[in-house]
Amino acid sequence: MKAPVLHGRRNMTVEDVPDPAPGDQEVVVEVGFCGICGSDLHLYDSEMAGGGIVMGHEFGGVIVELGRGVTGWEPGDRVVGAPMKPCMNCPFCVRGEYDLCYQHYRLDAARAGTPPAGGASLGSGGYAPFARIGAARLMRVPDGLDEQQAACVEPAAVGVHAVRLSGQQIGDRVAVLGAGPIGLFTLQCAIAAGARRVAVAEPSQRRAELARALGADTVFHPRAVADVPGAFADALGGPPDVVFDAAGVPATLQQAVDVVRPGGRVMMVGVSFDAAPVRPSVWVTKRVTVRAAFAYSRADYETTIAMLERGSLQSNPVVTSIVPGAETPAAFERLLSPNEEVKVLVDPRR
Ligand SMILES: [Zn+2]
Ligand SMILES: [Zn+2]
Repeated sequence: MKAPVLHGRRNMTVEDVPDPAPGDQEVVVEVGFCGICGSDLHLYDSEMAGGGIVMGHEFGGVIVELGRGVTGWEPGDRVVGAPMKPCMNCPFCVRGEYDLCYQHYRLDAARAGTPPAGGASLGSGGYAPFARIGAARLMRVPDGLDEQQAACVEPAAVGVHAVRLSGQQIGDRVAVLGAGPIGLFTLQCAIAAGARRVAVAEPSQRRAELARALGADTVFHPRAVADVPGAFADALGGPPDVVFDAAGVPATLQQAVDVVRPGGRVMMVGVSFDAAPVRPSVWVTKRVTVRAAFAYSRADYETTIAMLERGSLQSNPVVTSIVPGAETPAAFERLLSPNEEVKVLVDPRR
C-alpha cells in the first residue's frame, strides 16, 4: 500500500510500504478518514521526527483482518481506536482513575523508548489505507455515525474529558480561550453541560464564525479589545465561573486566571511546550483553582460517541478540508504556516 512515511523533521514522503499484518491480539482496520492532529504537527516539526513511521491516531474504519486470540470482533465491524482498556491492577486503576492508567501505559512506552510504530501506540498509522491496532483499544462505532464523525471521536473526547474534570455546574458562566478543534468541542460540551452563557476569544475569523454557529453567545478577537477580562464579563453578565484555556500558547495561562471570577476554575486543555509567564499574586488573591486535563478515558469515548449520535455534539462543521492520502505531506506543510483551517481529514483511500 502507499503511505506517508515520516523520515525526519519536515521530511515525509508517500511511498510503498508492506500491508500491515495483525499480530496476536491485534486487528487490521481499513481506514475511513484520519484527522490531522496538532500533536502530529508538533512531532513532524520537531527533532523527534523520524523512524520511518506512519502517523495518524484520529481515525475510524472497518476491521478487515483479525490476529490470533482476538475475540468479540469480526471483519466488517466499524471501529475507532480508543484508549487501552484499564488494567484494573495499577495504582491508578486501584483508585478508580482509569484515564491515568492509559497515560501510565504511554509513559512506560516512552521510558522504554518504544517507537510509535503502527499498532504500538494509540492507533498509529491511520494516514495509511490500512492500520494495525491492538484489539483492547477498539471501540464500536454505531450505524448512526458517519465516517467523518468516527474520525472526530478522538479530538471531541478531549473536550468531553476537560468539561467532565472542570467541575462546571449547570448555570455557570463559561469562557473559552481559542476556537481550534479542541476549543470548539469544549465549547459544545460546556453548553451540553448546562452553561448559562458561553463567550469565546478567537483571532481567526473562520474559527470565530464556527464558534458562533456551534452555540457561543459572544465571540471576540482577543487583541481587538482593550481589556480581555472586561470583555468576557460584559459578554457573560459577570466574570466567568469556569475558563477553558484551549489556545495552546503559553500567554493564555495567566490570561485565563485574569479572566476567571475570584474563587473560579481554570481548566488547561491546550498543550504548549514553552514556559508560561505567571503572576502568582493574582492566583493567590483570587483563590483560583487551576487544573490540567490531557486526553481522555474509555468512558469519555463512550460519552463522545453517544453525544455525537444524539446531536448534542457536532463534528462535521469542524471539518474544513478533506485531502487525499497522497497529499498528506503537503497538508502538513500548509498547516504549519498561518491558515484558516480547523480540522483537516486525510482520506487514505484516495
Ligand atoms: Zn489527536
Ligand atoms: Zn491500570
